[in-house]
Amino acid sequence: MPEHTANQILVSPPVTDHDHEIPVVFDSPHSGTIYPDDFGFAVPSAILRMAEDTHVEKLYAAAPGNGATLIAAQFPRSYIDCNRSLLDIDQALLATAWPGPINVSKKTEKGIGLVWRKLDTGEDIYSRRLSVAEVQRRIATCYAPYHKAVRDTINGIHKHYGAVWHINCHSMPAVSGLVAEEGPGKPRADFVLGDRDGSTCSPEFTAFIAATLRGFGYDVKVNDPYKGVELVRAYSDPAAHKHSIQIEVNRKLYMDENSRAPNVNFAPLQNDIARLIKSIGEFARANIPEHGHHHDCDHDHHGHDHGHHHHDHGHGHKH
Ligand SMILES: [Zn+2]
Repeated sequence: MPEHTANQILVSPPVTDHDHEIPVVFDSPHSGTIYPDDFGFAVPSAILRMAEDTHVEKLYAAAPGNGATLIAAQFPRSYIDCNRSLLDIDQALLATAWPGPINVSKKTEKGIGLVWRKLDTGEDIYSRRLSVAEVQRRIATCYAPYHKAVRDTINGIHKHYGAVWHINCHSMPAVSGLVAEEGPGKPRADFVLGDRDGSTCSPEFTAFIAATLRGFGYDVKVNDPYKGVELVRAYSDPAAHKHSIQIEVNRKLYMDENSRAPNVNFAPLQNDIARLIKSIGEFARANIPEHGHHHDCDHDHHGHDHGHHHHDHGHGHKH
């Protein structure tokens, strides 16, 4: 069963035994649908929900059964966006000056920084300014525990196996909106992979996922228009065998974008993603470095806490 590391985050560790675990973590930061009582937005809920990557965590539901960890935010990305830097603060949204450092990105210039001011469609989300304390609370209750869950899982796997593959999972509207990178009204590919122009994972990993999805019959673009943002940047270090990649799936492939209900293709897509997860597991196991997991890991003489926790085994590997 999944564990809650905090009220707002669901962590589903591997459900297989240790020998079938894979050094892979999936995270879905934008699929949360539980709107906190203190949100205080001023747009219709149906429009606000267009910001969600609705159902993405369900598309990747096969991850724990394949030996990987799946982390999902339960709060909505319009409340606070985990795929932004903590420095990406929109002062125009705040009632008083932010007390810490600010380094705004293009996202904040478009009104979609750490805490969004505007929707994709151009509407203001609030009819008020937010207090500094309110934003700080969103960071403390949602952003910080989410990042801790992702960081601890990545680091735990890396410590155990000497390598980790992290897949940051999103979905995108079928057609680009007003604030989109590529301008409005452009149709999207089935999948867009983002590795920040080759800086967050090995080129082999990006090529492997692209080839696997193309083999299933999908059209795939790489770093066009989405290159990946904070979650693939923050914990990746390909030279140290820490690989992160972003996968965007086109919402038209699995849901009605108006009602947000899964469509008839949901189950087939979920099945294809399960096949992708299995393939990623095989890729990861084949690419664990020589000094990594397969040497000196005496599985019979230490107590694994199967099904409860990831890689906090407390036994020493001689790397
Ligand atoms: Zn997203």
